Amino acid sequence: MQVAKVIVDVPSRQTNIPFSYLIPDNLSDSVTVGMRVQVPFGRRKITGFVVELSDHSDFDGKLKPIEALIDLTPVINPELMDLAVKMSQTTYSFLISCLQTMLPGGMRTSFAKRITAKSEQVVKENDWLFQGKSSVEINPSTTAESTTKKLLDLNKSDEIVVDYVLKRNSSAIEVLGIKATMTPEQLDKQRGLIRANATSQHKLLNVLSEQNNAKLLQSDLVKSGISASAIKSAIDKGWAKQIKIHQNRNPFMQPVKQTSALKLNVAQQNAVDKVSLSIDERDATRFLLEGVTGSGKTEVYLQSMAHALEQGRTALMLVPEITLTPQIVNRIRSRFGDQVAMLHSAMSNGERFDEWQRINRGKAKVVVGVRSAIFAPIKNLGVIIVDEEHDSSYKQSDNPRYQTREVAKFRADYNHCPVVFGSATPSLESRARAQKGVYQLLSLPKRINDQVLPKVDVVDMRQELKNSGSLLSAPLQEKITEKLSRHEQIILMLNRRGYASFLMCRDCGYVPQCPNCDISLTVHKNSHSLQCHYCGHQEPIPTECPMCHSKRIRNFGYGSEQLEEQVKELFPDARTLRMDVDTTRKKGSHERIIDAFANHEADILLGTQMIAKGLDFPDVTLVGVLNSDSALQFPDFRSSERTFELLTQVAGRAGRADKVGEVVIQTYNPNHYAIKFAKTQDYEGFYQKEMGIRRLGKYPPFYYTIKITGNSKNENTVMTRMVALTSYLKEHLSSKAIVLGPTPKMITRVNNQYYYQIIIKYRFEDQLQSALNRILNDSQKLKDVQLSIDNEPLDF
Ligand code: ADP
Ligand code: ZN
Ligand code: ZN
Repeated sequence: MQVAKVIVDVPSRQTNIPFSYLIPDNLSDSVTVGMRVQVPFGRRKITGFVVELSDHSDFDGKLKPIEALIDLTPVINPELMDLAVKMSQTTYSFLISCLQTMLPGGMRTSFAKRITAKSEQVVKENDWLFQGKSSVEINPSTTAESTTKKLLDLNKSDEIVVDYVLKRNSSAIEVLGIKATMTPEQLDKQRGLIRANATSQHKLLNVLSEQNNAKLLQSDLVKSGISASAIKSAIDKGWAKQIKIHQNRNPFMQPVKQTSALKLNVAQQNAVDKVSLSIDERDATRFLLEGVTGSGKTEVYLQSMAHALEQGRTALMLVPEITLTPQIVNRIRSRFGDQVAMLHSAMSNGERFDEWQRINRGKAKVVVGVRSAIFAPIKNLGVIIVDEEHDSSYKQSDNPRYQTREVAKFRADYNHCPVVFGSATPSLESRARAQKGVYQLLSLPKRINDQVLPKVDVVDMRQELKNSGSLLSAPLQEKITEKLSRHEQIILMLNRRGYASFLMCRDCGYVPQCPNCDISLTVHKNSHSLQCHYCGHQEPIPTECPMCHSKRIRNFGYGSEQLEEQVKELFPDARTLRMDVDTTRKKGSHERIIDAFANHEADILLGTQMIAKGLDFPDVTLVGVLNSDSALQFPDFRSSERTFELLTQVAGRAGRADKVGEVVIQTYNPNHYAIKFAKTQDYEGFYQKEMGIRRLGKYPPFYYTIKITGNSKNENTVMTRMVALTSYLKEHLSSKAIVLGPTPKMITRVNNQYYYQIIIKYRFEDQLQSALNRILNDSQKLKDVQLSIDNEPLDF
């Protein structure tokens, strides 16, 4: 008996215990760990991942057989399988969500979705490709006949291309289709080809099925051990077509000029040497590369990656979501050319799938991407880079709530390779580890060519308010005028979108609230609406107070829309661009704004914190931060760290080239230490001060933390459950663990759900994991309250 243990995807019945299924004889050679399969579950057909093969099952009843394979080769390799298990334990989430998270978006659905192939691979003259036309979604209930018909209708021609799918009917497993160009007759002939068991052809089928857009270089096929005669017979049979490719381009990115390694300064050379040595010795050292913006960190990354490649290994580089701009990708491609694969959220599912396949087949030696790229199936890693390691986008906010930095460490251990965490403002966790020697600290103390740091002025807005009431202080206005007259560029950041923070009746004090959430509505003048930034609720702006009918209903507070209006009034001749969530909803709009500003098509770029990071505009000589203390108003232990980080990052935007930069920070808290240390760009000073506060408050990095959040549409229900959980935890954890709560979240009701939380602080708790896993498993039974467990939450 052959048994596959399968982790199934049933949202209502999650468990980490796999279900056993029989492997039918005709699939016995094909099923391996890491493949997705279709299995019966109750009356449904569902998908799952094979996590183990066995010759017996402990299940008493009669086992049901696997119905179909979704993959012909594993999509989760052994490394990622180990990682999924580890991640499920450390993030208190179910294995199925970890496995799904590892795959690119388009592959998370049960059957291969329609993927339109836009990419043309760069090929040499005289190389041949098999080309498919398009593909179609095939779901488990479709029969061969109806699929054929559907495909023909779709293509409106007699040539069709099908994604492969293996389907088990009453007698045998048959090939329903493969990805190749076929007529209906040819498709017919094609069925049963696997039964024919011609080895080389079988292999070819495997390869073809991996290719979602069914384009393959003949040279690659031959390299993977498929005989030229098998290819020829495939062409003769008509289920693959030979075409000549003329193009020499990649549609995702413009061609970039080659650059070569720069001559490093002493500090850079030291860093590259240390990382290279660790690559050679396969010792999985963690490095913290600390250096202000412009100190040459990226060059260190590039040369470390180059060293890994020289040693026949690969490299993975992660960047925060918002900074994965063409600017950084081009820099990497200029060094490594077409060996680079890219994975980020602005790509379509099809594009991401193509890149993922390229990586999986070992075609890409360098992967650059955002958070989820840490799961790229790249093998033989020689170095992992985590740029801007402090960035909050490295923490996933949904299940599984993993911290990318920790996943990177797992992969580094598995591959015996170093990790380089880089930042101008390292997270306190990482810096504390470097202090203790757990990470090795590498410093780049100066900007390249001794370029001076920008000059930072702090403007006390309490004084300004008395004078004018404008969003832009007098000193900032003066500086803008001066820069404009010199044709230099300016960035203005106001970390709040919309026009005004809220609306209030001057006579009765009424403030319009979201009907679904405990929060007032934000005024959006451009779209003539009041909006809730938590649930998306919208309503028209009232012209009179709905309570007392007074007309004296006014805006309070400012948002980026109003900043734009004031800037246009004050500087009518300046060209402005606004970048916030509202102006970047369309695909590509973010890049368009950046490109336009980089080409100096505008003088002033204004927007929310989106504009703070990673961008490199040589003509920007002034950065203004209008509400620098917006984060400080939140009662969160990380608010000072966030403020310091943001101000330092945004200041780094000024004066990157040969011009000296200036920064104006407007604040109502000029004496707050986060603002003071940001003014002098003194990370060390900030670190020391903040660590003192964290120690006193028993916060990270002195304590580990867990946040348990419960939500329900009934406030009483969630409160009662959370009180019970708190006593359970206090009972099962040692007296050294600190269990706080339950407390309502600051905005208790969002989208008509009430949120309560419990915080656990601890240093070492051997009972913690089992207690939390018990809570997680029990939560499946208690449908009226949803629970989430967040290991090392970003805020509380
Ligand atoms: P960071 O990543 O720390 O912001 P970069 O690596 O982007 O710093 O370096 C800042 C600028 O200095 C870039 O324009 C880069 O090309 C240049 N640069 C970096 N290292 C060197 C070097 N060793 N010699 C000359 N220029 C360098
Ligand atoms: Zn009123
Ligand atoms: Zn709302």
